[in-house]
Amino acid sequence: MSISADDLEEIRQLARSVATERIAPSASDVDEAGRFPTEGYQALVASQLHAVVIPGAYGGVGADALTSAVVAEEIARACATTQQVSGANELFAWPLLLAASEEQKQRWLSPIAAGEALGAFALSEPDAGSDVASMTTRAHATDDGWRVRGTKRWITNGGVADCYVLFAVTDPEAGSRGISAFVLEGPTPDCPSVPPRRRWG
Ligand SMILES: Cc1cc2nc3c(=O)[nH]c(=O)nc-3n(C[C@H](O)[C@H](O)[C@H](O)COP(=O)(O)OP(=O)(O)OC[C@H]3O[C@@H](n4cnc5c(N)ncnc54)[C@H](O)[C@@H]3O)c2cc1C
Repeated sequence: MSISADDLEEIRQLARSVATERIAPSASDVDEAGRFPTEGYQALVASQLHAVVIPGAYGGVGADALTSAVVAEEIARACATTQQVSGANELFAWPLLLAASEEQKQRWLSPIAAGEALGAFALSEPDAGSDVASMTTRAHATDDGWRVRGTKRWITNGGVADCYVLFAVTDPEAGSRGISAFVLEGPTPDCPSVPPRRRWG
């Protein structure tokens, strides 16, 4: 959905007031404590600003990329951490919007739009940041699904997200075109140290 300049300005003013009144007051404490920005994120959820690119069909606002950038700008001005948390929701949503089935979109995007789940986007690795073609995480098909091996780093919401889009090499011969995206639910049985669902907020 593309929106008029007037509507965009209205959304900017909404984001600015939420950021100023409800996010900025705890920003220093979030940074000093290195904690999840619970108050700020809840304020975003209450204003439907926590994942604005998710379409109305999945319970979201259905905003375009420009609106998403304007909202991000206003939130980050008050608290970069809070913006990262909501930005990761949108990073999770984009690959699904581009390539997922209708069933997958309903399953994964609706809980995020409702503020009941948190997303993450797992692309970067210790030796492959922007240079995605150097990715070493591999996914192999097995009899009952896929086995993924590798290490990701710098993953916003990592460890607390309910769902992850994870990128792994499935066809090494194809170089940068041999990378596939997987949707994972966290925590996995291999990661029992992470407590059960809703590890955030
Ligand atoms: C606050 C924060 C949150 C993040 N959240 C996430 C997240 O949620 N998920 C995630 O996957 N990652 C995340 N990252 C990782 C981030 O996206 C980068 O991958 C990571 O910071 C490393 O990339 P870099 O550009 O800093 O370094 P490098 O990848 O080492 O790049 C160094 C420089 O070389 C350039 N460069 C690299 N490769 C090439 C190339 N092939 N051709 C030309 N130029 C090149 C880059 O543009 C850059 O200027 C996050 C990082 C930060 C700081």
